[in-house]
Amino acid sequence: NRRIVLQSRPHGEPKPSDFHLEHQPVAQPAEGQVLLRTIYLSLDPYMRGRMSDAPSYVPPVALGDVMVGGTVSRVEVSRHPSFKVGDVVLGASGWQDYALSDGNDIHALDSRISRPSLALSVLGMPGFTAYHGLLQIGQPKPGETVVVASATGAVGSAVGQIAKLKHARAIGIAGGADKCRYAVETLGFDACIDHRAPDFAEQLAAVTPKGIDVYFENVGGAVFDAVLRRLNIGARVPVCGLIAQYNATQLPEGPNRVPQLMGLVLARRLRVEGFIILDHYATEFADFLRDMSGWVAQGKVTVREAFVDGLEQAPQGLMDLLAGKHFGKVVVRVGEG
Ligand code: NDP
Repeated sequence: NRRIVLQSRPHGEPKPSDFHLEHQPVAQPAEGQVLLRTIYLSLDPYMRGRMSDAPSYVPPVALGDVMVGGTVSRVEVSRHPSFKVGDVVLGASGWQDYALSDGNDIHALDSRISRPSLALSVLGMPGFTAYHGLLQIGQPKPGETVVVASATGAVGSAVGQIAKLKHARAIGIAGGADKCRYAVETLGFDACIDHRAPDFAEQLAAVTPKGIDVYFENVGGAVFDAVLRRLNIGARVPVCGLIAQYNATQLPEGPNRVPQLMGLVLARRLRVEGFIILDHYATEFADFLRDMSGWVAQGKVTVREAFVDGLEQAPQGLMDLLAGKHFGKVVVRVGEG
């Protein structure tokens, strides 16, 4: 069994030496357990947070422990009455070839999931994040303008496509011309602009002539600064992620702009609301899977997957994800499908 453990806590950007690949004998399941072989491992921005011991909504990965992660696996050996050899399950085996489970943290893949890797993207956690954040907090109305950054990523691409299904205008923000073209031509965004362009704020103003009604916050940083000035009275800001600051080691320099921000929240009656998707599975996941699997089957929502080959490539895959070098939902192919 190959497994990748957290070797050291990164200061700033993670580096290869923060991870360590270990080999261990494959454990055999006890009565009531199954042995899982990982097929796909999802790489997600939250993993940077788990590498750090700063206070968060869940405890960090301990030094020497296997890196956490959502997985699609095949049951190799079963001593559990509900699972048989060959079953494909969604779970959280983390960054390793094999894992044991007592059955409580795994689920057979829903029959509406046509391709197993989709359980880690549009029909799984990232798609659910987009669905909940946009529809419950953003609440876009027909004709309103929805802006989302990281627009070709797992969450952002679903946000834009759901916004269009709700008859809103969808404006994407992404890194580079290729991603922007894909957002418009394939995902159906009304426009998409490059956050690295020197005149980004002017371009944002040009594509949001009526201001912004919903800003789905995935990144923070300079993008948020520019968006803030365009928010309309009554705008909603679901705060989903702040990837631009995940590698930050200190607060940015400059004057304290919190009073200015709070002044805007007040004057423009903004609704800024953070959410953690783990809180909503029990109440909303079934509705999500019904709606989203229908949209995917009808071709109304699509996802681009960026596959990384081999478990040993997972550290570089995560580093590249944080740096914006991938194009689409990042999935590591660990074992045979
Ligand atoms: P993404 O694939 O969208 O994340 C990587 C992308 O972030 C990069 O490709 C890059 O896109 C963008 N990015 C990185 N750095 C910056 C920067 N400095 N400025 C602007 N964009 C940047 O991942 P996901 O779709 O999985 O996640 C999107 C967000 O949602 C993340 O912030 C994540 O933490 C959050 N999230 C929150 C959840 C919750 O429960 N609240 C659950 C799931 C995700 P580009 O090249 O286009 O700039």
